[in-house]
Amino acid sequence: MLNLLKHNANSRKIIKEGYSLLLVSHVNELRQESLEYLDGFVVDTDSVLHAREILMHIRTQDNIQTSLLPIFINSVYKLPQEIVIHSDGLIELTQLGSYMQRVVTITKRIQKVTAPKLVAHDTLIQFKTLAYSYTRNVDIQPKPSRKSYIGYEFPFISLFYKDTEVVPLLQNLEKAKQLNYLSFRLEDYVHLCKGCSGNYLNFRECCPKCDSIDIKAHDMVHHFVCAHVAPEKDFKVEDGLECPKCDKHLRHIGIDYDKPSTIYSCNTCSHEFQNARMNALCLDCGTENELDELLEKAVGSYMITQKGEQLLFESKKNYISGNVTSIDKGSLSLNLFKIILNQEVQRIKSTNGHSIFAKIEFQNDELQLLNVDVKKALIKEIGDIIKSYLREADILSAERFNKYYLMLPETKENQLERLENIQYNLSKLLSDNLADTEQIIKIVTHKIQPTDAIQQYFA
Ligand SMILES: [Zn+2]
Ligand SMILES: [Zn+2]
Ligand SMILES: [Zn+2]
Repeated sequence: MLNLLKHNANSRKIIKEGYSLLLVSHVNELRQESLEYLDGFVVDTDSVLHAREILMHIRTQDNIQTSLLPIFINSVYKLPQEIVIHSDGLIELTQLGSYMQRVVTITKRIQKVTAPKLVAHDTLIQFKTLAYSYTRNVDIQPKPSRKSYIGYEFPFISLFYKDTEVVPLLQNLEKAKQLNYLSFRLEDYVHLCKGCSGNYLNFRECCPKCDSIDIKAHDMVHHFVCAHVAPEKDFKVEDGLECPKCDKHLRHIGIDYDKPSTIYSCNTCSHEFQNARMNALCLDCGTENELDELLEKAVGSYMITQKGEQLLFESKKNYISGNVTSIDKGSLSLNLFKIILNQEVQRIKSTNGHSIFAKIEFQNDELQLLNVDVKKALIKEIGDIIKSYLREADILSAERFNKYYLMLPETKENQLERLENIQYNLSKLLSDNLADTEQIIKIVTHKIQPTDAIQQYFA
């Protein structure tokens, strides 16, 4: 199947200005697609669960460029904020044109980013976070969320961590901040349970002796006349307050008595005390936390720094210099192809061998409209298909998405079955995938002669 052009019955692609967006209602639709050939996605479901699965599936792709592709949400669905924050926003399908600039900007920036190979999971998430901030040109702002263990959810980043893993999440961001890849702006402090790192806490006062919460606060009363100080309850009589020491009736607060402080008494152990202890009960795991036992974490927004951007581009440089051959394995640049072809002419001069030069061409107006990046991907995909029919020693080069050259060494003119296969299968693939018109594939072959000047092959 020609993945790039594949459209099965379930696949709903919107092509606009040469960019293709895939409408997705269920994660299974993504499993049938080659995501790297798309330019973005539109989440097309009102199911929170399905939408989340779709976001997760895309954002956790191994191919970092795919994982960063724009994801919009069809505005006809009212998905909750906790889903929307992970997307590039709502999109109105009837106004598609007005969103294309954003797709172009993001996909162009994505092209500049390539993940370093073989890095630890945490480092990869850091890297993706930098790349997300860079490709969107935004700071990553925590959004209050009742669903989050810490009360805040981070766009993009939270997708990589389980609900219970917020501490590792914050620590990983902290590492990137310390390395100066991310800048940080403080927005809040959260206090988390020592048992489970959650912040669903109930704060209450309790007895410092027995921890009971069954305590009662009493005002202390100070009788000026006799200087007696005792809890108010000791002064209580039927018709007001009376001093238990001097038996006088207390009349006016501020004149014959005052209430200088409060005292607590515990209904469980009868302990009396001035300062109640504050405890935080975790409603998730049941742990009682003393206040100084709570984990205090800073929450704020993160933005890529210049140093962070350098990191993104450096790995791109490394990637290009180190992996060019593996990307184009089996097909050569046109210049190199010409050099080898020239050598083959020389070889035939001395050996009288039989080799074939072949040119594969087709015309297709529909594909011609695709944007440059898609065409590049198409060259690779069609090249791979052609290569699958070739012999080990055969050499392929592409000039354009619809023009390929082959050099078939030690091949006679009656041994060209593989070209027939290519012609038949490529035609069938393109025809099946395009607007039901038969795609004609033109293949011209030429037996390489010792007197050939190779320029004439490319005329
Ligand atoms: Zn807890
Ligand atoms: Zn007590
Ligand atoms: Zn008194």
